[in-house]
Amino acid sequence: MSLFLYNTLTGKKEEFKPTTQGVALMYNCGPTVYNYAHIGNLRAYVFADVLRRTLEHNGYKVKQVMNITDVGQLTSDGDEGDDKMVKALKRLGKPMTLPAMREVADIYTEAFKKDLQALNILTPHEMPRASDHIKEDIELIKTLEEKGFAYRISDGLYFDTSKFPAYGKLGNINLTGQQAGARVEVKSEKKNPKDFTLWKLSSNELGWESPWGIGFPGWHIECSAMSRKYLGQPFDIHTGGIDHIPVHHNNEIAQSESAYGVPLANFWMHNEFVNMGETKMAKSGDNFITLQTLTDNGISPLAYRFFLLEASYRTPLRFSEELVRQVQDRKLYTLYKTLSEFPLGGVINDAYHSQFLEALGDDLNTAKALSLVYAILGDIEHLSPEDKRATILDFDKVFGLDMENQAKLLKSQTESIPPEIQALAIEREEARKEKNFKLSDEIRAQVEKEGYEVMDTDSGPLIRKKI
Ligand code: AMP
Ligand code: ZN
Repeated sequence: MSLFLYNTLTGKKEEFKPTTQGVALMYNCGPTVYNYAHIGNLRAYVFADVLRRTLEHNGYKVKQVMNITDVGQLTSDGDEGDDKMVKALKRLGKPMTLPAMREVADIYTEAFKKDLQALNILTPHEMPRASDHIKEDIELIKTLEEKGFAYRISDGLYFDTSKFPAYGKLGNINLTGQQAGARVEVKSEKKNPKDFTLWKLSSNELGWESPWGIGFPGWHIECSAMSRKYLGQPFDIHTGGIDHIPVHHNNEIAQSESAYGVPLANFWMHNEFVNMGETKMAKSGDNFITLQTLTDNGISPLAYRFFLLEASYRTPLRFSEELVRQVQDRKLYTLYKTLSEFPLGGVINDAYHSQFLEALGDDLNTAKALSLVYAILGDIEHLSPEDKRATILDFDKVFGLDMENQAKLLKSQTESIPPEIQALAIEREEARKEKNFKLSDEIRAQVEKEGYEVMDTDSGPLIRKKI
């Protein structure tokens, strides 16, 4: 089945053709570990995971690399301000040393890996840390310098964007008034406003030795160096959030293509934002929600994953805890409960399976793919309950909603609910049917006091131990 993906580089959906037959080489720009990831960031990794699973479901052997940025990302894309890791050291009252920086990075990297696990995101094959690749960064910068793409100013070495005529090609970034010869920002020593740091000199001796002095690699060079080391050049797919298009990814392209004369990646794919109200959820802002906050509020990370799958990765999403809670109670748990009641031993239905591949082959249309689950559940004519189960569980290899385990867990939990709690739930259901909501609320409170919760799913009440 052919797989069409929206390529930011060409601005259209294109058939995926790998550089090596049967293999897909993918790089995902990873987190900057100066703080916990928020659920907006995590959309970028759920998207990458669905992409990987789709490629695998289509028979590709995938190599997935996701970097960890633990040095070098400055506060603004315009190369201003502190390194974000240095800011974290200040925020946490830690000493200004490389070991302390590593310690802070370790804390947030571990937290990030736990988030990935909770969201049932497959572990990437490589998760290289930027701070372990300074040697590779220096080699790449030296190549750029030798080829005449770099120049020195007082705070470091910069890439000269006027030497790369295709600069800004990703997403057709409008550079009017920004290239060489145009008026340069006041005070900046940069030749062109879009020129960016390759090596930033340290103002306080914190950093690594280099031919240009003690300092840090630029954030963009890290991704160019690490992707080349683990995937070669060109590789197949590069992903990130849409905020990476105008600066970070165009800079990666400029460096890698200038240094080696071949494209960096063939497909560039970008997920849209998760917004809070009208504004983007941002780590640096105060409107950010972590996965832990959701869990503390009784929402399973998998319900958030389901919520994301209901929209195209290219649609902005407005986060609402209420909506995710509804997805959890009315859809996800209903599905687990239904599956837990179906017998084992069915076969995958070919007709639905091809529709499923077709939906995903249309730029990962997960919303359509999910709607097929409901079509299957409602189809009493062509599928037995066991075939429904087998087909939906096969789809879940891409959805990643952990359906098989969760359905089993639910079944065993339901069987181990004490009879007195089950009796209370039946009493509550009767009160609800008689529209005696006062009594049904009282019974619900009693059930909760005993450490259980009742949810009204579409296929009847569900009791489970509180999470
Ligand atoms: P960072 O850790 O800040 O480098 O970001 C990690 C990933 O999250 C990047 O791919 C960003 O583009 C992406 N990202 C940042 N904010 C959001 C958001 N509100 N919604 C979706 N993706 C985001
Ligand atoms: Zn990157």
